[in-house]
Amino acid sequence: MKPSIYGLKNDELTEWFVENGQKAFRATQVWDWLYVKRVTSFAKMTNLSKELIQLLEENFIVQPLIQKVVQESNDGTIKYLFELHDGLLIETVLMRHEYGLSVCVTTQVGCNIGCTFCASGLLKKQRDLTAGEIVAQIMQVQQYLDEKETGDRVSHIVVMGIGEPFDNYDNVMSFLRIVNNEKGLSIGARHITVSTSGLAPKIKEFAENGLQVNLAISLHAPNNEIRTSIMRINRNFPIEKLMDAVDYYLEKTNRRITFEYIMLRGVNDQKEQALELAKLLADKRHLAYVNLIPYNAVSEHDQYSRSKKADVLAFHDTLKKKGINSVVRKEQGSDIDAACGQLRSKQMKKESTEA
Ligand code: SAH
Ligand code: SF4
Repeated sequence: MKPSIYGLKNDELTEWFVENGQKAFRATQVWDWLYVKRVTSFAKMTNLSKELIQLLEENFIVQPLIQKVVQESNDGTIKYLFELHDGLLIETVLMRHEYGLSVCVTTQVGCNIGCTFCASGLLKKQRDLTAGEIVAQIMQVQQYLDEKETGDRVSHIVVMGIGEPFDNYDNVMSFLRIVNNEKGLSIGARHITVSTSGLAPKIKEFAENGLQVNLAISLHAPNNEIRTSIMRINRNFPIEKLMDAVDYYLEKTNRRITFEYIMLRGVNDQKEQALELAKLLADKRHLAYVNLIPYNAVSEHDQYSRSKKADVLAFHDTLKKKGINSVVRKEQGSDIDAACGQLRSKQMKKESTEA
């Protein structure tokens, strides 16, 4: 199987051209065709020679994803289901905000972290996505928007789809550099957020990468007892180790971190836990931001339910009184299964009953 050219960083593409006896400026032209003009085949790159087009076709494909399902929600959210060359399915979501259009990308097929509240966690990791397959999700969405000719542009990215991005670190880093490249899609690093379940050593490595990309950490609990019960990863990287990595990151980058906290009724949503969370984050409160997330019901995990509204408000209020910045996240696209992994698991169930 030929790799997608979307997986090459700008300098890697230039290197490939030079190694194959081509002039470096040809790489610049191809980059422009891919990310500015956004054509979907080499044959459409009209300022290249036939020989060069043939050489590219022999070595690469452009778009590696096949669009299987598109669902548009009343609030403008669009959800895509894509098929990979080996038949596996992934999903990508476009959300509309006041500040722009944001795309949620998938980084792995399934996830091995196994959080007990997550639909993706039910599906063991089948493989990592290549950098090209992650970039291709953004390109598919942008090309879909291009066809509508409304001038819409993907301006933000959240790496919050299926998978643990720091368990596919190198490919995710290549992806970030490709979409951030200013001669291409030029999506600002400050407009990109990577969410991790808390792989402490990778958080430290990420602190060194030099990109101004935002980091979000799925904390979901203020102590090890609750966190281990809902996130298996907490056995390997308990809260002390995680906070040690967080402190390192903050010291290195001085950038704000978002802590994600799914509100699970009766599990982590009481005043006692809000106070414990405030205490945990007290020494970094000027750089910490808590995102209180409504739980999206996953039919396979019926032990959980969404927190009562009053409990969410009280939790938020307690954090505020303790000087911790927090926000209750608005939901989007819930009528089209916008929660992590849900469209994919639905499609797979459909296919298994059809089979
Ligand atoms: N693996 C990474 C990124 C993908 S998950 C991580 O865990 O951070 C992105 C976010 O969706 C995480 O904060 C995750 O906890 C949250 N999430 C997973 N299942 C959810 C559900 N059923 N309802 C609401 N949020 C969920
Ligand atoms: Fe994996 Fe994130 Fe889901 Fe946990 S919440 S199982 S880390 S995708």
